[in-house]
Amino acid sequence: MKCIFCKIIKGEIPSKKVLENDNFLAFHDINPVAPVHILIIPKEHFENFDKTPKKVLGEMSDFIKEVAKELNITDYRLITNNGKNAGQEVFHTHIHLIANPNGKLKWPKLV
Ligand code: AMP
Repeated sequence: MKCIFCKIIKGEIPSKKVLENDNFLAFHDINPVAPVHILIIPKEHFENFDKTPKKVLGEMSDFIKEVAKELNITDYRLITNNGKNAGQEVFHTHIHLIANPNGKLKWPKLV
């Protein structure tokens, strides 16, 4: 089993957890691009957003809102890189939650 996020779920690789329930896990990105950079993942393995069932994505949305509450933030950006050319490096569905509690996030040019 090669998936690093599956290993994080199993506790085989350490992570800085923010919130967890039976189906989802939120933990700090190892290489943050903003003061707050959290990864939210389903515990069940799906390759990416495109391959993730509607039911899971719906429940994931509720979980993300709980994560924001836990972090005490109301303003945040959600990103999912779907596929190699979109920048996906880990092929286990994840949503990046990014925030700057001290000010505005920039909207960078990506190409
Ligand atoms: P993506 O490029 O959308 O697939 O995002 C993968 C993200 O996973 C990157 O932002 C990495 O910094 C992050 N990442 C990779 N390995 C780990 C790890 N062991 N713990 C936390 N974050 C990780």
